Amino acid sequence: MYEGPLQRLIDELSRLPGVGPKSAQRLAFHLLSVDEADVRRLGAAISELRDQLHHCSRCFNVTSGEECSICLDPRRDQTTLCVVERPQDIVVVEKTQEFRGRYHVLGGSLSPIAGIGPSQLRIPELRDRVPAESIAELIIATNPTVEGDTTAMYLAREFKPLGVKVTRLASGLPVGGDLDYADELTLGRALAGRMEI
Ligand SMILES: [Zn+2]
Repeated sequence: MYEGPLQRLIDELSRLPGVGPKSAQRLAFHLLSVDEADVRRLGAAISELRDQLHHCSRCFNVTSGEECSICLDPRRDQTTLCVVERPQDIVVVEKTQEFRGRYHVLGGSLSPIAGIGPSQLRIPELRDRVPAESIAELIIATNPTVEGDTTAMYLAREFKPLGVKVTRLASGLPVGGDLDYADELTLGRALAGRMEI
């Protein structure tokens, strides 16, 4: 419908979550009208995202180094792991200032319907980490959804027989939503009141 580069940008933008064809068109025309330096900076930020960032080799958080700053911090409790679905959930838990251990990012949650089993997530890596790092407690902070609950129950079944304490955030979190829908206070309380599963 539009000139090649403009149409390509609209097509790419409309593939982003939450961006429909109308918003994509609006954004594309906006980028066409602003300062060239601004657009180049945006383009550079997008390229650098994939060039300079990758996953922490230990916990799969996003990092520019081999391991992330949390894994490398010697002051953090080495025996407790908070298990989350996505790297951005780490930021949410960190904001509560209630957790001083380290993390493990699964990369999603179990969903038999969508064909996502344990090996599609970083559960095999967790299975390696727990004995290698003498982990005593796993705090499961998956989203309060059916998939998040299924994942929590699965992890409890897997790791409790190994003598690991497996806990889940206390209720009070908005059901069916993402972890980041919860405010810091609610999440902090849920963390402090976590229960063994
Ligand atoms: Zn890490």
